[in-house]
Amino acid sequence: ERFKDNTALTTQHGTYTYKDLLHYSVNFAKELTVASKTDGRKTLKDTEFPLEGERIAFLCENDLSYVVAQWAIWMCKAIAVPLCKSHPVTELQYFCEDSSACMLVGTAAFRDKLAPISSQLGRPLLEMGEDDYSGDYSELKGNSKETFLGLKDGPRKNEYKNRKAMIIYTSGTTGTPKGVVMTFGNLDAQMRDMVQAWGWSQSDSILHVLPLHHVHGVVNVLMTPLYVGAKCTMLPKFDAKQTWQTLLSDASDVNIFMAVPTIYSKLIQEYERQRDSQSSYLPSDLPSILKQKFRLMVSGSAALPQPVMERWADLTGHLLLERYGMTEIGMALTNPLIGDRFPGAVGLPFPGVSARIVEHHDNCNHGDVLVSADAKKVTVTKGKEGLCGELLIKGDNVFTEYWNRPSATAEAFTGDGWFKTGDTAVFADGVFHIVGRTSVDVIKSAGYKISALDVERHLLAHPDIQDVAVIGLPDMTYGQLLTAVLVTKSGATLTTNDLQIWAKDKMAPYHIPRKVTCLKDMPRNAMGKVNKKQLAKDLFP
Ligand code: ATP
Ligand code: MG
Repeated sequence: ERFKDNTALTTQHGTYTYKDLLHYSVNFAKELTVASKTDGRKTLKDTEFPLEGERIAFLCENDLSYVVAQWAIWMCKAIAVPLCKSHPVTELQYFCEDSSACMLVGTAAFRDKLAPISSQLGRPLLEMGEDDYSGDYSELKGNSKETFLGLKDGPRKNEYKNRKAMIIYTSGTTGTPKGVVMTFGNLDAQMRDMVQAWGWSQSDSILHVLPLHHVHGVVNVLMTPLYVGAKCTMLPKFDAKQTWQTLLSDASDVNIFMAVPTIYSKLIQEYERQRDSQSSYLPSDLPSILKQKFRLMVSGSAALPQPVMERWADLTGHLLLERYGMTEIGMALTNPLIGDRFPGAVGLPFPGVSARIVEHHDNCNHGDVLVSADAKKVTVTKGKEGLCGELLIKGDNVFTEYWNRPSATAEAFTGDGWFKTGDTAVFADGVFHIVGRTSVDVIKSAGYKISALDVERHLLAHPDIQDVAVIGLPDMTYGQLLTAVLVTKSGATLTTNDLQIWAKDKMAPYHIPRKVTCLKDMPRNAMGKVNKKQLAKDLFP
């Protein structure tokens, strides 16, 4: 309401103001309600909000339709379950089934994927017509304000704060994806934190190239700009050339960019291909253009390899701001907007978030590091420099439950309410460093505790290494055998011996992989992550 006539969203199909988004959403919320009342099932309540508390799974393009579907679902007081368009039908069906969605919503483009699930599960499919999200809404009369319940400013009352807004599924990097229930209070805290820490304002404009089923794409890059009245420019999907062109376009006022490390790495590859071609569309004064246009470029969702950070800084003049977050907690740690950013480090807690590292969480009183932050200051208590252990998080940003998984929920928290991230971290030089996932990235080999992420960072400095995943394989002699799975730039095979010769004077001996395997492509999921347990199983059964 406040931002009414400001531009909220630009997509391949058009430009929309906040008022447009609101009107289309009210329109579609009415349709959802009608559909729920006419589908003949008796389970739904015969009240003003028959869909209250029900889950609605939706699959839309990266376009206006996504925003309209999500807002309309909230206006019906239902819980939004965003689906990923690159997932195969079997996976999509898992999300619909696991969340026991009462209805599926999608644009016509996804009819082939959603219709079989709809009939299989016996849940109605409501297809969004063009008119629902781009047609004429002028007939819509008044009272949009009253209907606009889900998005009222601020966490008014507890009822709003505790109301379930979305179920976002984890990326499934370590197992079956779990449904994370996010309340409006969680979303509010997460967005408020990012606004403060990164200085978001109404005059900002962000470029969106991420999938829309994960916190990064949904909360950080779409909802946060809409929360402050800023503008979001959405590409239909990530494409390196189109992204470069939009980043550089004179016609666009984009000044913020956020992506996952794989995307930065693909943009660098595209740059390098163009540099070698005669007819490059990339200007030679890239840094001076981008330095002037952009105020912030952020990386997260996976560890940012140092060579990528350095190369990006060379090319664009921007030192990426790396932050750490999870579906369960939104964003938790961040490098500073102003001040030194360290490669390999993820900075300090967002305002309102507390973080601690514990050696053993049954006994967190001794020797652990506790860091909390608010808008004004960061407090470090019991700081034992260099302490390595499990990272725990507390704050209004933290979720309260996994959908339908009470025992997983109970296991995820300590007795005194800290969320156990399952990641190992070190507090050193006054900032947090992520060692990796405790279950796969902390490799114990020949008595050393090795961070797979550290080894990956080193190996990416090799001129022919394009992509790498470091894993520990069970081994009689070493406990775990440090193993590198590689993709080379040239397509040639690197042997264990080649790599060891190269690494000899560059890496600590215990960091040098003892086994090397080359692949054509690294199996990465929609968020650019590698499921290392699966990779080890597939390659070394
Ligand atoms: P699942 O929980 O289903 O196995 P997932 O943990 O990959 O999947 P997400 O919630 O999307 O699902 O990812 C959170 C994880 O991503 C964190 O636990 C952490 O391991 C990793 N991560 C996020 N940001 C960073 C970062 N800056 N550096 C290192 N790791 C990061
Ligand atoms: Mg996880």
